[in-house]
Amino acid sequence: MATAAAKPWPEVLRKLGLNRPVDLVLHFPLRFEDESTVQPLASLGLGIWSSADDKQGSSVQCQVEVIDSQVVFKPRRMLRVRVKDVSGEGQLRFIYFNASMQAAFTKGAHYRVIGVPRYSRLGGVEFIHPRLKKGWLSDEELKGQPLRAVYPSTSGLTQDRLSHWIHKAIEEHSPSEWLPQDRLNRLRLPSLTDAIKELHRQPQPQESLFWDRVRLDEVVAQQIALRRARSSRHRVSAPALHDEMRLSERLLQALPFQLTDAQHRAWLQLRADLNRPVAMHRLVQGDVGSGKTVIAALAVATAIGSGYQAAVMAPTEILAAQLYLKFEQWFEGLGVEIVFLKGGLSERERRERLAGLANGTVALAVGTHALIQESVQFARLGVSVVDEQHRFGVAQRIRLREGGVHILGMSATPIPRSLAMTYLADLDVSVIDERPPGREPIRTRLISQSRREELVEPLCRLRQEGSQAYWVCPVIEGQQDNEKAVAALEETEQWLRPLLGDELGVVHGRLKAAEKQSVMQAFARGEFTVLLATTVIEVGVDVPSARVMVVDHAERFGLAQLHQLRGRVGRGSGQSSCILLYQEPLSESAKLRLRALYETDDGFELARRDLALRGPGELLGLKQSGEPELRFTDLQRDERLVQKGVDLGALIADAFDDSEQLLKLGFEPQAINNLLSRWHRLATDLLTSV
Ligand code: ADP
Ligand code: MG
Repeated sequence: MATAAAKPWPEVLRKLGLNRPVDLVLHFPLRFEDESTVQPLASLGLGIWSSADDKQGSSVQCQVEVIDSQVVFKPRRMLRVRVKDVSGEGQLRFIYFNASMQAAFTKGAHYRVIGVPRYSRLGGVEFIHPRLKKGWLSDEELKGQPLRAVYPSTSGLTQDRLSHWIHKAIEEHSPSEWLPQDRLNRLRLPSLTDAIKELHRQPQPQESLFWDRVRLDEVVAQQIALRRARSSRHRVSAPALHDEMRLSERLLQALPFQLTDAQHRAWLQLRADLNRPVAMHRLVQGDVGSGKTVIAALAVATAIGSGYQAAVMAPTEILAAQLYLKFEQWFEGLGVEIVFLKGGLSERERRERLAGLANGTVALAVGTHALIQESVQFARLGVSVVDEQHRFGVAQRIRLREGGVHILGMSATPIPRSLAMTYLADLDVSVIDERPPGREPIRTRLISQSRREELVEPLCRLRQEGSQAYWVCPVIEGQQDNEKAVAALEETEQWLRPLLGDELGVVHGRLKAAEKQSVMQAFARGEFTVLLATTVIEVGVDVPSARVMVVDHAERFGLAQLHQLRGRVGRGSGQSSCILLYQEPLSESAKLRLRALYETDDGFELARRDLALRGPGELLGLKQSGEPELRFTDLQRDERLVQKGVDLGALIADAFDDSEQLLKLGFEPQAINNLLSRWHRLATDLLTSV
């Protein structure tokens, strides 16, 4: 037993998010300082002042002799020490110093100075607060000097103290190996202890096997945690839905189209899940326009046809309204009672609608995600459909699962396979990778703002062609429309109004929900030609005769958002186009986004590029949900390793509850538990919240 356990954990470490010895073990160096070589002062000049990021410069060691030291007051009080070596001169500056430090810099004193050199116009080469060692070392002695790790730290914690704690932790709490030797050999990876020691000892390139070993640890822990969440969900019972009333079949027959093969596959997977007495949690993901809504309707029909109720939720009220209209149209002839729980209902209306759900006379509720939060009571809820469910984090997903209901998530953000495989491993996924037939590809054009006049004529012609257009202006910051966005939109309105007259309708976030909706509905009925809007036209709006999408200031939108917007057109027959109006000059990343969009309309390909540009946190909204991301693993760079980690994680998760089985596979149950707790932000937090 370590006696150190009695000592309280240093508070300063908590500031760095280091709460346990194992956190220290996994706190890897930022960089290394080389104390085995000495550089002449004069050699430091070149390159230092030309480097743009002098903070990031690498650290060097010099052996110097003090010329003199004095306290100066320019630009503020500091200690300035002039030093020299055989090659030339330089200076050291200290803003924080005391009398004993001052006294130590006597003329002729020898020091080793270790730090990042800078160039100052006045003093030449200088070091600010370098590390100092008294005396010089001979060439022999220098050779024996180890590389010194520099760790991410915080104020009030010196590198020496931090390093001391880290090394103590490595010695006393070195993680136990959980991978059997034969597997390690097959994976051609070093042992965990070796990997950790090496990473603390000297710089390792990103592609190093030592990093790979740590990444494998991380991915496997994440996989076990998510897969355990999935299997614990499989133990939650939910009604087996067999659709005795054959409502889903009747819905299919009433549809004006046939399911595509991809839709059919998703429907069969979904139906098999619903038939079983365990809670489903399936994510249907498919590109915009791939036809996810009808899959949701089939799930709803199955619930209602089995004597249960269904809830359908969307992230915004406009989307919820769209779904409501669609469902009303599809279920009208089938005698299903639907309510729309929208904002702005009178108290009485709302009470009545809720009562219908509570006593079971109403079979289907459509609303925003607030439906789950507001604890709306259902008599016999069987299925919950959550549109745009990728915006939910794991914690929310888990909360959704309470209550023994089948959950169908829908995501219009095509999720790259690597991402689905890792972050969404607690879900079953169906992919709709095919578009309904008869769609012509959307033509995408990039046009500079300076040429926007050219759009007027084609817009005015749309009416005769029976077509409609969206004109979308960006919301500049945050989610809500702000002053600037509305001002930009009003300016565009003033420009378009004289040209289009009544053929122009406007919606923005400042309008009341009911007003927004009535404009949107008038547009959907074809009562006017051009809908000018801020991004309230989010994902999901479906107006088949809209064939033109103009995105104003396209450079301000993200890739996924632009792809979603483009997906608002091309939903019916005929040629559709998407016009991206951009303001020059374009930033590099804006160029990349616009080019990607021009080059492909494959949502999966775009999502891959988006993942490369922004990382998984942005794509899945992990940042907002406060969910842990993989720290060391990059899904794209480390793709092959991730695959190995996923396979291993699956193997272990399947055997997790059966220690004999685990042992047979060569895994120590205790070592696996340690693995999970080592990555507790990823693993145990998730598991304990299940
Ligand atoms: P999304 O996947 O973006 O939610 P929707 O479900 O809104 O897509 O479908 C887009 C459009 O395609 C809708 O008008 C829908 O009625 C239509 N649609 C869906 N499936 C088919 C199909 N198999 N054949 C023809 N049209 C379809
Ligand atoms: Mg949709």
